[in-house]
Amino acid sequence: MIAPAPTCARCLDRGHVFAARGDRAAAEVCLCRSPCPLCGGSGRVVRDRDGALHASPCSCRDLARRVALYNAAGVPRHFCEKGLSTFRAYDAGQADVLARVQGFAQSYPLSRKGFCLWGKPGTGKTHLLCATLQHLTLEKGVACRFVEISFLFSEIKEAFNRNVSALAALAPLADVEVLAIDEIGKGRGTEWELATLDELLGRRYNADRTTLFSTNCGVSLRAERAAPAGFGDPAALARGQLAEDDLQRRIGDRSFSRMAEMAVFHHLVADDRRIPRF
Ligand SMILES: [Zn+2]
Ligand SMILES: [Zn+2]
Repeated sequence: MIAPAPTCARCLDRGHVFAARGDRAAAEVCLCRSPCPLCGGSGRVVRDRDGALHASPCSCRDLARRVALYNAAGVPRHFCEKGLSTFRAYDAGQADVLARVQGFAQSYPLSRKGFCLWGKPGTGKTHLLCATLQHLTLEKGVACRFVEISFLFSEIKEAFNRNVSALAALAPLADVEVLAIDEIGKGRGTEWELATLDELLGRRYNADRTTLFSTNCGVSLRAERAAPAGFGDPAALARGQLAEDDLQRRIGDRSFSRMAEMAVFHHLVADDRRIPRF
């Protein structure tokens, strides 16, 4: 009979601990699993099955792979350790969006359709994006990348400057299984930026890859378009329900219509959570 594993106060028996490196969030295998108590570091466990010995890969190999995936995701340092369970919803609307994001993360890859979180700054959009990537990498072993839109453009430009072809420059972002683009709609909106975004979304769309988004821009929802009388309503504008800075206008019709097919839009309405509450 195998004795139950002792509870590790450092990792709470998750097997990994968070340890930010530089400006990026990172994780490492906990000391309680290094060397691995099951295989002693060999990576193989031998079990007696019906009197015969069978060797199989040890679960520590998968743990190391998941930690490496988290470290490659590029989650900003500020969101290290910020998971879905530590997101504090301040009202029913936020709780509803949190539940939908949790539902996506838990059921992935049953549905590959991503989501776009939109709303004013400080409503927790980036926290939810990063927490989703944390879950997908560490709990599910899915390769992910987080990129803020202006870094995305500068990363591709920098590759061009090294004479890397457009196809190769976009490959790391186009090919990763799940990509989270933070602050889409921000930027100068140059022709090059619009064409680059269109190319990236087009490649991900054609390959049926999951893309998650956040934006501070307004989004004109279909229901609101159907009721143009609502436009200009100061109360509706104050609630953030109408397009003050329309995402479609910022990124162009083509990219927006791709986004609308790739993602479900969730509106986060809340007071700025970065302002302390008393
Ligand atoms: Zn531990
Ligand atoms: Zn092992």
